[in-house]
Amino acid sequence: MASSSKRPRSGASGGSGPSGPSGASGASGASGLSGAPVPDEAVPHVRVAVIGSGFGGLGAAVRLRRAGITDFVVLERADSVGGTWRDNSYPGCACDVPSHLYSFSFAPNPEWPRSFSGQPDIRAYLEKVATVFGLRPHLRFNAEVLEARWESEETRWRLTTSAGQWTADAVVSAAGPLADPQIPDLPGLSGFPGKVFHSSRWDHEFDLAGKRVAVVGTGASAAQIIPSIQPEVGKLTVFQRTPAWVLPRRDREISQLEKWLHGRLPVTAKIRRGTLFALRELQVDAFVRRPGLLRVIQQLAERHIAQGIPDPALRAKLTPDYRIGCKRILLSNTYYPALAAANAEVVSSGLRELRGSTLVAADGSEHEVDAIVFGTGFHVTDMPIGARVFGADGTSLAEVWKGGMEALRGSTVRGFPNLFFVIGPNTGLGNSSMILMIESQLNYMIDALTTLASVGATAMQPTARAQRQWNLELQHRMDRTVWTTGGCRSWYLDPSGKNTVLWPGSTTAFRRATRKVDLGEYELIMRTAPTAAPTTARTVQEASA
Ligand SMILES: Cc1cc2nc3c(=O)[nH]c(=O)nc-3n(C[C@H](O)[C@H](O)[C@H](O)COP(=O)(O)OP(=O)(O)OC[C@H]3O[C@@H](n4cnc5c(N)ncnc54)[C@H](O)[C@@H]3O)c2cc1C
Repeated sequence: MASSSKRPRSGASGGSGPSGPSGASGASGASGLSGAPVPDEAVPHVRVAVIGSGFGGLGAAVRLRRAGITDFVVLERADSVGGTWRDNSYPGCACDVPSHLYSFSFAPNPEWPRSFSGQPDIRAYLEKVATVFGLRPHLRFNAEVLEARWESEETRWRLTTSAGQWTADAVVSAAGPLADPQIPDLPGLSGFPGKVFHSSRWDHEFDLAGKRVAVVGTGASAAQIIPSIQPEVGKLTVFQRTPAWVLPRRDREISQLEKWLHGRLPVTAKIRRGTLFALRELQVDAFVRRPGLLRVIQQLAERHIAQGIPDPALRAKLTPDYRIGCKRILLSNTYYPALAAANAEVVSSGLRELRGSTLVAADGSEHEVDAIVFGTGFHVTDMPIGARVFGADGTSLAEVWKGGMEALRGSTVRGFPNLFFVIGPNTGLGNSSMILMIESQLNYMIDALTTLASVGATAMQPTARAQRQWNLELQHRMDRTVWTTGGCRSWYLDPSGKNTVLWPGSTTAFRRATRKVDLGEYELIMRTAPTAAPTTARTVQEASA
């Protein structure tokens, strides 16, 4: 991809220094950190700026390098890599998709200790990926992207971060689907005298032993936290708005022999991964087209509840009234025994307000506690990065998406040239590994960048027609899914009830849909002159007219 920039380039240079970020504004008027005017030439330019260093951002970095693109930075607001697996350090945190599938296909790990490995091991894996694949020189920590703005005249992005500015030909947003915690705005919360934290911001300094602890929420994180803390707390009060369906968790240690085999004979690890993949792929039809088939699985869950909860009153509280699969299915062998323990109480009603240290449920019951753990999820359908990204006409992505998030193939959005999402709208999964979707989107992003270079264009954006058509078809398929018909309200749905989170198909179908960029779905933009002038950026169609 040609660039007319004569400014310093800040790719695999490491740290700041001469090729580090500029701390102030450039000629286009974007504001910097210090407020002091800094010439545009001092703002480092890269071919690609990646936002985030979780699985998505690190995967993007590996794929960029493999495609021969080394002129890029990874901007990360925290001080280390890992994303989800850095931030979620709560007791019991582990993946709920088997590790041999929940890892990069290009970085198999024969050393996974368990079938569902814990957070420390997954975090260590990502640290190792960053080192082994030579990503460290590209990482910029404590660089929170505050604003990314497309500059049409220059056909580039300008990123303002907490560590200064960069400009970039393209931006890869891997800011995470579940990265910004959501705590409900409850009356009286600010006056609560005890300890309060979100599951993804665990306070390891606070000792829960013997305390009266409330867990608010009964989703995937809460289901791992509850059994982990129940034995040590004095009293556990769980606020449950809607019960989850829970299936047994077939977790076990990976034997030395298996590890040895996977290390010495990588084909055995491939077979294992392939089997795990196929088993999940076979389930997709039931979730997406024939939810009736899920009845068999629901019976397993009913048996699990009957075995774990002898008390019929508690069992009634914990039995969902919607079809299994409508909300995320939880996997646990210890959740029900923890809730049935003598020191645990399930309040089958949401938390309504706080009066001092008294928590008042929607049913009016009152509960005195010393600490509150919010397992209340994340900002998902209101993707926070959207409010910080401004497109060709100066409008924010959040504004464009106020009627619901939409992209072409989950990756690109009209009006936001050269912006590529990793885990964009409708790329989430209900039953398999997100890494499969991430790798598909990385294929698409790399193909887009190499296609741009090969056709001599500077930027691309989807046509309105292609984006509309993609979403019409996708939402049409969504109508039959268990997430729509199952009779629940889940975090997959936005306030209008539209599912803008999940992919209504198999991961294989998504892989096919993102293998190659179809130029018929895009408008190409060419930079025709090196200097800024309103008429220099033209679409290819205009240029050839
Ligand atoms: C507790 C938990 C368990 C999970 N278990 C599974 C599982 O078993 N299987 C599965 O498939 N999925 C699971 N997920 C989903 C998981 O989020 C994805 O699988 C995957 O880790 C997402 O990777 P990511 O890189 O897209 O996002 P993240 O891992 O969230 O990384 C995003 C990164 O972007 C950074 N960032 C965000 N905004 C900015 C900004 N403005 N500027 C700079 N940096 C920014 C964040 O600090 C973070 O490091 C789980 C999620 C959670 C929370």
